[in-house]
Amino acid sequence: MRRKLVVANRKMHGTIPVNQAFLEGLLAGTRDYCNADYAVCFPHPYLYQAQSILTGTPVAWGGQNMSRHDEGPYTGSVSPGMLVEFGCEYVIIGHSERRTRGHDSDNSVGERFQVATMAGLKPIFCMGETLEEYEQGLTDLVTIRQLNAVIQQVGIKNLAKGVLAYEPVWAIGTGKAASPEHAQAILHFLRGYLMLKDQQVGENIRILYGGSMKADNAAQLMSMPDIDGGLVGSASLVTEEFVAICRAASSIRI
Ligand code: PEP
Repeated sequence: MRRKLVVANRKMHGTIPVNQAFLEGLLAGTRDYCNADYAVCFPHPYLYQAQSILTGTPVAWGGQNMSRHDEGPYTGSVSPGMLVEFGCEYVIIGHSERRTRGHDSDNSVGERFQVATMAGLKPIFCMGETLEEYEQGLTDLVTIRQLNAVIQQVGIKNLAKGVLAYEPVWAIGTGKAASPEHAQAILHFLRGYLMLKDQQVGENIRILYGGSMKADNAAQLMSMPDIDGGLVGSASLVTEEFVAICRAASSIRI
């Protein structure tokens, strides 16, 4: 049985007072909605604040990226150990906003998946096709290429230490979410591919959908049998909107 998971990707947004109001609202708004898991991925400077407010609560937190190195002359980078020290459970790996700006290749995403799990973090591994690839019917090919790069690096069993997120690039921040049927079809295909490699891993791994998930489409998307929750960008910037998505996840019968 896979519990739903809703993750806020706050990207490069927030201030100390804004984060505090958001987290207080999230804790209050989800108090009676315990049938799903929730996490918030913050910009690195706010991880201490997340740790201070969320320790001992059911809401987890994480980083939005990390280096594959433990330490060294990597100006501006953050190591897996640093994320662990600030209590992170999750780290986003391979987000399209980093892939498209040339920071992340398929292989470097695989390497960082490996390093994250070795440090005890759960990587939220993002994959998805661009609009051009979508229009050319390449969705399956692109997502399998991205997935295989990680499997080759870590092995199928270790993939289960993370969470997958299918995020079509054309849906991210555009307000145009994939239809529940499209998202379900891709996630079903990806799960089937994993089940062929390892039945248990395929059945148990959580696969999220991300891309313009909002309060008004979340329940429909997450009701799909292979969609185990959401990675939420823009809608996580409005507390009530994000709380509504969390409540929708908790209210779905699984
Ligand atoms: C994201 O960036 O991971 C994301 C899903 O963004 P949005 O919800 O704004 O599409």
